[in-house]
Amino acid sequence: MASEHTVEGPRFSVVAPAYNEEACLEAFHRRASDAARIVAGDDYEIIIVDDGSRDSTFEIARRIAAEDPHVVAVRLSRNFGHQLALCAGLKLCRGAHILIIDADLQDPPELLAAMLQAMEAEKADVVYGQRRTRAGETAFKRGTAKAFYRGLRRLADVDIPADTGDFRLITRRVCDILNTMPERYRFTRGLVSWIGFRQIAISYDREARFAGTSGYPVRKMIRFAVDAITSFSILPLRIASFTGLVASIVSGFAILYTLVSWFTGHTVAGWTSLLSAVFLIGGIQLFVLGIIGEYLGRLYLETKQRPLFIIDEVYRAHERT
Ligand code: UDP
Ligand code: MG
Repeated sequence: MASEHTVEGPRFSVVAPAYNEEACLEAFHRRASDAARIVAGDDYEIIIVDDGSRDSTFEIARRIAAEDPHVVAVRLSRNFGHQLALCAGLKLCRGAHILIIDADLQDPPELLAAMLQAMEAEKADVVYGQRRTRAGETAFKRGTAKAFYRGLRRLADVDIPADTGDFRLITRRVCDILNTMPERYRFTRGLVSWIGFRQIAISYDREARFAGTSGYPVRKMIRFAVDAITSFSILPLRIASFTGLVASIVSGFAILYTLVSWFTGHTVAGWTSLLSAVFLIGGIQLFVLGIIGEYLGRLYLETKQRPLFIIDEVYRAHERT
């Protein structure tokens, strides 16, 4: 498929963020190289972005890059998180088509040929993997993921497909547009949906992790979900103001009731109802303030315009010409 090259680069780039993936990298390199070779012959690059791992991920990536000139090993200066590591990879890659994939082999690189075929047949700019099943993940993870994707679809202003991760094949122009998006709270799959063009799904079965443990504990999952929702919807703010409105109306009735009680002379009892009202209104106020705070905090951090990530080192065996 002809797409605009902004830089002279290989036909294909594979971009994989890796955080504490020392046990997966060799196998990932093997499988990703095989898949890339089928579609691009020798004309591909594999970019492994080490997201400040605490194990020997970068050393292994550098060794692989020393042996295989197709591989570029990138190290960020610290752990910036999956989405920003991906962002670094997308900035550095030069391919006409880019495969975004996890380094833990949960998404099969072998799907690349089918994805490219679908892209060409349907003249699409994005082919995203849609998970039919998710092996090796806990019922909790599957359940929360399902609820998250369904909830996000209801809340978000753009149509973000359910059950899709960042595993997708994109064209150079989509990558270039992504790279111009300055936001720090990145929910890449949402940004890709937002960009538009023709985007199609290809279903696959998500495999169990090849080795290691998930870099997304519950704490990070919650943060990721809040980032996703606040990036793509202001509905929580509307819910906050609606809640405030309802609380005011209820308070209006409560005031009427107290006035009537006062005029009829039953004013002494009422400790329970008084405290309930104080707690209820206090709770609603804090909840609403919290929602506003979430948005305000993000606004504050976005206005600083700090770079999204810092690269410590880029290692490639020799410069491509
Ligand atoms: N990852 C990363 N930085 C992080 C956490 C994860 O680059 O802070 C990478 C990780 O190495 C993997 C991908 O992002 O390639 C997805 O993470 P993970 O497999 O831990 O998440 P899960 O698949 O369990 O949702
Ligand atoms: Mg994973």
